Amino acid sequence: MSEKQYEVTELLGDGISAEIRTSVHAVADALPEEYVFDTIDLTYENRKKGARPLYDKAIESMTRTGRGLKYPTETVEESPNAVLRKLAKFSVIHRPVSTIPGVATNFAKKIDLDIIRIATGGTYDDPGQMIGDYAAASLRVVDRQTCEHAARYAFSIAARDRKLLASSSKYTIQRVTDGLFESIVDEVAKDIQFAGQITHRRELFDALLAKLIMRPEDYNVILVLNEYGDFLSDLAGGLIGSLGLGASVSLSFDEKSRVRLAMFDAAHGTAPDIAGKSMANPTAILLAFSLLLAHIGEPRSADALKKSLFDCLEAGETTGDLGGKLGTMELTQAVIGRLKNHLKAG
Ligand code: NAD
Repeated sequence: MSEKQYEVTELLGDGISAEIRTSVHAVADALPEEYVFDTIDLTYENRKKGARPLYDKAIESMTRTGRGLKYPTETVEESPNAVLRKLAKFSVIHRPVSTIPGVATNFAKKIDLDIIRIATGGTYDDPGQMIGDYAAASLRVVDRQTCEHAARYAFSIAARDRKLLASSSKYTIQRVTDGLFESIVDEVAKDIQFAGQITHRRELFDALLAKLIMRPEDYNVILVLNEYGDFLSDLAGGLIGSLGLGASVSLSFDEKSRVRLAMFDAAHGTAPDIAGKSMANPTAILLAFSLLLAHIGEPRSADALKKSLFDCLEAGETTGDLGGKLGTMELTQAVIGRLKNHLKAG
């Protein structure tokens, strides 16, 4: 038995969820640490019988363990993601986007980004209102505490391997709102001990979009407000040739800006057209699991999993959606087969 044991809340979903969950469990069993899953059944079948107690149970379990792995859920009466976001008070989304071997893309360069997005406020919380019948206006909110949470988290990600951190906004135009955001990032940069090891720079968001495409190697961690993060995440997904193969983590914080709860998930949905056919690609959920491993402080396992997965994809050992011939578990076994070597090298 392993000395290290971690409990992980997992939230069961619909469609291909059961298949990709089997893949996660097989990989978890092959890692040096022991992973114990507290499973909450959020399948539609179960939600139909009464969803609210299930969501409460999910939040209770994730608050206790500090982490959750969520499988895709079908949106029927409600969007489980939206409900969980509200109940858990998720305010920041971290989405790593890196070039995935074997995925066709129009973009020739490699990218390796950690996009940290403030996921509340901006203009998205206000539907706006008409001014007479000649115009419409909406309120844009940037709150101090969420900026601080996001900034401290972004610096902690940059500190993992002394990366560059760019905070980006339109601070020369939106002087009050974006100006507040940038001033808080500066305050946090001065306050934290490891700031000296990280290069932080401010960039205007429009220029960043152009420079990111011309010189992606100049960017590692990018910290942005809500709308900018929304656009940037999809742009980056487009650059790597896929919106569905990514993973992300939604975060909520305590009053001291420490992560209270982190929920990891794949970007794709339940894929009902291929559910139960062993055709599901487990790449995104394994990337989400790798992100979880890094978050709990197991970087060696996190890196080994990502490298093993990318080795398989590079060798063309993959599922049908990427032009390969393998089923979900065959790809999973191919990943596990490579894990040992990467764990040794790590
Ligand atoms: P989808 O991502 O489920 O499917 C789009 C296409 O991509 C389909 O052809 C599907 O077969 C394919 N695909 C998706 N994931 C795949 C995988 N892992 N391996 C191989 N192929 C894969 O999007 P959709 O069809 O628009 O949505 C279906 C359901 O999923 C809806 O009920 C939607 O609300 C829900 N959804 C849930 C989440 C979530 O829980 N995070 C996210 C998006 C959509």
